[in-house]
Amino acid sequence: MPISKELLDILVCPVCKETVELKPDGSGLKCVKCKRVYPVRDDIPIMLVDEATVED
Ligand SMILES: [Zn+2]
Repeated sequence: MPISKELLDILVCPVCKETVELKPDGSGLKCVKCKRVYPVRDDIPIMLVDEATVED
């Protein structure tokens, strides 16, 4: 089951408390501010700084 819009609406980046956006391929959630990408595993967002990668 894909991540719901409702869930996306309540998820925020744990670093800057900003909105995260689902990547087009569904592989992660990207913070609009710091550009950290939090991985999505088995349709579960891993909102941990240690798990995040930074994209340009
Ligand atoms: Zn952030």
